[in-house]
Amino acid sequence: MGFKLTILGSNSARPILARRPSAQILQANQETFLIDCGEGTQLQMIKYGIKSSKINHIFISHLHGDHYLGLVGLLDTLALSGRQTPMHIYAPPMLEKVLDLHHQISGFPSPYPIVFHPLIADQSRIIYDTPELTVSTVVLSHRIPCTGFVFREKTLARRLLKAKTLEYNIPFTDFHDIKKGNDYTLPNGIAILNHELTDANRPPYSYAYCSDTAYFPDILPHIQNVSVLYHEATYLQDKISKAAIRGHATAQEAAAIALQANAERLILGHFSSSYQDLNPFLTEARPTFAQTYIAIEGKTFDFKDKEWTNEL
Ligand SMILES: [Zn+2]
Ligand SMILES: [Zn+2]
Repeated sequence: MGFKLTILGSNSARPILARRPSAQILQANQETFLIDCGEGTQLQMIKYGIKSSKINHIFISHLHGDHYLGLVGLLDTLALSGRQTPMHIYAPPMLEKVLDLHHQISGFPSPYPIVFHPLIADQSRIIYDTPELTVSTVVLSHRIPCTGFVFREKTLARRLLKAKTLEYNIPFTDFHDIKKGNDYTLPNGIAILNHELTDANRPPYSYAYCSDTAYFPDILPHIQNVSVLYHEATYLQDKISKAAIRGHATAQEAAAIALQANAERLILGHFSSSYQDLNPFLTEARPTFAQTYIAIEGKTFDFKDKEWTNEL
């Protein structure tokens, strides 16, 4: 249980041997979410032990190739594997046409339902809502319509204190009710207050994925206080004007967003192929936001770990 983020790719448009295009897996309690699906994502999943059959929801930020060109291949492989379960895809509307055309010209219609959820990048919306979690979009500033995704766990039920249930001889059938916050009444009519029987759970986790985007403070209200912010940092500060023209951000700009958002931790990604050494990204970001890490391919960031390491 909890949130774990595995990086499958963290490079920008042109892949290099050391880094693949954008794709990552968020394991949020029971669900396995795929966020962006650059070319080669399915091979990266095999390499890093991610079971693609467990994915039921795929979120695509925008339709630059480095964020979706792996999708057709992945969906085809799932078809060959005999998948029957519906696949939910949250993406810009035109992607549905791409998938339809592929299924038409390949002569293999999808054997499992593809439930397409078109995303309009005009305002933030809740696009997924369960008793445990919400996912909402956040409008980013890029050259074409682009949305980020914010995953927020709902407040967790209180933890039942086992010693108290034994002390008051509370039957198992009443546990669920107490965890929901209700008091418990003993057979003699005396009420035991909920706070004596339970303990507060950990604070809910949240994760914001913001790629691709220029430095864009309009996103701040939507990503406030997130546990982890993934923000693109295509360039270093010496290319700040190039970044702005191309709808991208620098490491220092990403750190400034993390600071203003009061995020707990920041992961930088979407690096330009022109950089071999990623250490300078940390050097530039950490004076502004100390808890900055690099999205290294294959690395899993577990939200419950107090200390994260970042060996480059
Ligand atoms: Zn990109
Ligand atoms: Zn892009």
